[in-house]
Amino acid sequence: MREIYLDYAATTPVHPEVRDAMLPYFREEFGNPSSSHVFGVRARRAVDEARGKLAFLINCEPEEIFFTSGGTESDNIALIGAMRAAGKENGHLVISAIEHHAVLETCEYLADNGFDNTVVPVDRRGLVDPEDVRKAMTPETVLVSVMHANNEIGTIQPLAVIGRITKEAGVLFHTDAVQTVGRVPVDVEELSVDLLSVSSHKLYGPKGVGALYIRRGTRIKPLLHGGSQERKMRAGTENVPGIVGLGAAAALAQRDMNEEIARQRTLRDRLIYGIRESIPDAALNGDEERRLPNNVNFSFAGVESEAVLAMLDAEGICASGGSACTAGSLTISHVLHSIGCPAELARGAVRFTLGRWTTEEDIEQVLKLLPDIINKLRAASPTYQH
Ligand code: PLP
Repeated sequence: MREIYLDYAATTPVHPEVRDAMLPYFREEFGNPSSSHVFGVRARRAVDEARGKLAFLINCEPEEIFFTSGGTESDNIALIGAMRAAGKENGHLVISAIEHHAVLETCEYLADNGFDNTVVPVDRRGLVDPEDVRKAMTPETVLVSVMHANNEIGTIQPLAVIGRITKEAGVLFHTDAVQTVGRVPVDVEELSVDLLSVSSHKLYGPKGVGALYIRRGTRIKPLLHGGSQERKMRAGTENVPGIVGLGAAAALAQRDMNEEIARQRTLRDRLIYGIRESIPDAALNGDEERRLPNNVNFSFAGVESEAVLAMLDAEGICASGGSACTAGSLTISHVLHSIGCPAELARGAVRFTLGRWTTEEDIEQVLKLLPDIINKLRAASPTYQH
């Protein structure tokens, strides 16, 4: 059976060109970038080249890129580091209701440590109203954090507008751009952000590596203490092969982005149109226009997403749900809850995320099988009105 991977928002395979770029750094070029001999010098050069490639992709200076272990760590440094550096006993931060857990949980941790927060809502399409951010800020506000695009519903936020508001107020602006860097154009100047999180495994790089963009002059305290790597922002010997991989992935994204956006958008729209045509009571979650070119998220009335996913999986189709199974009890996704998706519909949410190797045949196969799967499950549902 052919496997069809439609979960590129969860992770992406390492691109063969990225893998080839990484391979020498496991064996021949194994040096520690902090060593002063030739092995160290070559490793240092490789790390700096990668820094340049990522900086070019997001339009910043190489010195403003700090390599980390991934999106989660970057989010943690951004939030905790900025709040601690502000030197306020009870500093305040503002986040959106649909942030990734890496931001939400960090916010909770900060709340436990005396830092107040305000959570701004989103509308039915998953969009933050910049005016809500303005209203949420207080004289104590140190930082605003609003993600660039949501990982579940793909909604792209009006960051440039929010960035203007935070700039006027002299408040730092962080964005979790894990779902956008490498997928759509990201320009730190255009977006007016001071801090931006990147994760390599979402753009065909390896897992366990990422980066944080820190605008020059931004006060941030490191979380890890030890050596002076990453200009003391992130102690610990660098993950050289991983960093080289992230750099290669950034260059590849730059080269192919426009073509991939157009290709994936066409496939995405075919899938959205096809589902609407063939399945009644299917509601698209997220904004139709301001949407990642690879995201399709539908709620199907009268079904449980776990059952849909299991039946798709049995046919070789790998997708994901809108709900997270926590300790055996189905909890509704906070994102779907925040956009006002009724619990009954949120339980039947299925996300398909497309990528470089998604083909027209893949999409046609989903459209061939999905209506039957939904019909079967609805026929067995005691509550669905046929
Ligand atoms: N932020 C968002 C929006 C994500 O989608 C993810 C990954 O799923 C992360 C953060 C975490 O990134 P990482 O897996 O590199 O820690």
